[in-house]
Amino acid sequence: MIVVMKQGASSTQISNVVARIEQSGCSAHLSEGEERTIIGIIGNGRPLDHEQIERMSGVERTVPILRPFKLASREFHPHNSVVKINGCVIGGEQLIVMAGPCAIESKAQLGEAARAVKEAGAHVLRGGAFKPRTSPYSFQGLGEEGLRIMADVRQEIDLPVITEVTAPDLVPLVTTFANILQIGARNMHNYALLHAVGESQRPVLLKRGMMSTIEELLMAAEYILSHGNSNVILCERGIRTFETYTRNTLDISAVPVLKELTHLPIVVDPSHGTGKWSLVEPMAKAAIAAGADGLIIEVHPRPEEALSDGGQSLKPDRFADLMANLAPIAQAVGRTL
Ligand code: PEP
Ligand code: MN
Repeated sequence: MIVVMKQGASSTQISNVVARIEQSGCSAHLSEGEERTIIGIIGNGRPLDHEQIERMSGVERTVPILRPFKLASREFHPHNSVVKINGCVIGGEQLIVMAGPCAIESKAQLGEAARAVKEAGAHVLRGGAFKPRTSPYSFQGLGEEGLRIMADVRQEIDLPVITEVTAPDLVPLVTTFANILQIGARNMHNYALLHAVGESQRPVLLKRGMMSTIEELLMAAEYILSHGNSNVILCERGIRTFETYTRNTLDISAVPVLKELTHLPIVVDPSHGTGKWSLVEPMAKAAIAAGADGLIIEVHPRPEEALSDGGQSLKPDRFADLMANLAPIAQAVGRTL
């Protein structure tokens, strides 16, 4: 259930409602909009009588939330939420493009990629230090050394960075280096990890599991939100279907579906979504046209030498072309790039 407070309800009226909710053993989550405050009631406390709550002063009405996700739902937070990262805002009018190599391989490689993507207009640098690979014999990433390289390159080029965290005990380490914590598709159901990043305030990019429904993605987001971190960005990165021509099937329809169901910003990954560099641009355009708030794209200075995901990585000049070609699409849907 959510409690919609009257416009101009006082802070005492709001705290009285919160106290009433907490007495029942549930917890109260506040969404303070420009016009009114909405209080989400979460947890398995004693059932609350909605009529009693509606009689409290300052309360306009209560609304049951029938969907299993609550804090992620549009009912709880009707306006789009935005996530702020060092001066860039994800979920606003401007589209945010995160770009860089799949994996950090060396300082020279990351630096070269970083300078190229920044020059082409990317807003965030991506790069994996801990790489969850399908095969244990594939390159697993440079680990902490990769994070140090990322920190050095960030200082040089002055772009915020996103990198994946793969285990709860790595969250403190990765948080000291990263502006955005990435939860990979393979870890979308890792509830201990979702709990750990939920306790941090660092923005989290949560990728949809390759075999997960939209509702499961939103329930994973709910874990992070309910542990206190409201800075969640969702990522559609393709799901497994019977089609084998592409690495995954990029579910573009997930974008408008998510826009209906949730207030959280949505970013699309056409690199993992297709597995082929030649399909990245058309799918990036489709994602923006469908209403995505941004993109995450793999770019490597020499894809043929990449230690992971070379086949889906763009060369720097192709990434620059993509950025130029996205601008009119962004404009057509009322966004800037
Ligand atoms: C990645 O971003 O490099 C990655 C491993 O992505 P995913 O978790 O979507 O497979
Ligand atoms: Mn990759």
